[in-house]
Amino acid sequence: MTEHDIKEIKALLIAPKHIVIVPHKNPDGDAMGSTLGLYHYLTKNNHTATVIAPNDYPDFLKWLPGQDKVIIYESDRTKAESLIESADLIFTLDFNALHRAGEMETPLDNSKAIKIMIDHHQQPDIYAKYMFSDVSMSSTCEMVYRFIDMLEDTDAIDSQIATCLYAGILTDTGSFRFPSSTSTTHLVAADLIDKGADHSEIYNSIYDTNSYERLQLLGVALKNLKIIPEYRTAYITLSQEELNAANFRKGDTEGFVNYGLSIKNIIFAAIFIEHKQEGIIKISLRSEGDFSVNEFSRQNFSGGGHTNAAGGKSDLSLNDTVEKFISILPRYKNTLNS
Ligand code: 5GP
Ligand code: MN
Repeated sequence: MTEHDIKEIKALLIAPKHIVIVPHKNPDGDAMGSTLGLYHYLTKNNHTATVIAPNDYPDFLKWLPGQDKVIIYESDRTKAESLIESADLIFTLDFNALHRAGEMETPLDNSKAIKIMIDHHQQPDIYAKYMFSDVSMSSTCEMVYRFIDMLEDTDAIDSQIATCLYAGILTDTGSFRFPSSTSTTHLVAADLIDKGADHSEIYNSIYDTNSYERLQLLGVALKNLKIIPEYRTAYITLSQEELNAANFRKGDTEGFVNYGLSIKNIIFAAIFIEHKQEGIIKISLRSEGDFSVNEFSRQNFSGGGHTNAAGGKSDLSLNDTVEKFISILPRYKNTLNS
């Protein structure tokens, strides 16, 4: 994003606008935190802003300030499409390709609104007039803070905005432990705390609100965990049957994949989760160091993401997906052992 872009965006935002803000499908903490943080900022500046999420998001985010105003595209298509059609501006946050908005791709693509992307995923598509894309950023929430900073308006950040942005930084950095959290990330977090984010309460709201069933499901996942030491790889499977038995709710498996990485000498972890209704296996991949799960997912599982965290999917059965996964590991033997 150039200084010239910022100048033009500032000019656009002088008069009240109709604005739609969109996170990716299956929104996570960063997607919801960044869209809601920006929503509060724009609303405060007299714009009419609406967050439209492609589908529902996990219960552990259903306390974020303003989340009750979010429109879910899947359950409110008519309203969502009319808002998209009449929007002057559309912000797309925390994703790098329109298809990541699921079925919202078509209305977004058809819309004549000026699009602004704020995102930190690798290899972004060029669909937005203004692109603030930076893969070195810890989170889209950190980028929204920096975006407001570029507009020379961080004084406008109040406790609602600060709470939303802090929540997304916290979740996307794995509580500040991933290499993507820099000293600047901490300075941004510190300023958000000064502006009213209650770091302890935010942590509790996200991480200390487990259901008993979720912990039982974690037990099943850990029992299913397998390791392949020669490839320094660990993987977990969860079948639809296992999910049903634990009364699965959206978001329940968030973070499970990281347990693989917590094993000594393991640098590559995967989780394969069966989604019978969609007919796919949803895959989450994590790595430590230089092994790029973004590349691995792009090459083998029609997905992508970041170097150390990516997602993908498979149309094969759960067993066949795992077999495919194991069968391609030898191709990566050198990188996994370097
Ligand atoms: P997760 O495994 O937690 O779903 O996702 C890890 C990271 O990869 C997130 O930044 C997420 O946005 C991204 N990601 C997840 N699934 C996909 C996918 O199918 N395609 C792409 N390009 N990125 C994905
Ligand atoms: Mn993110």
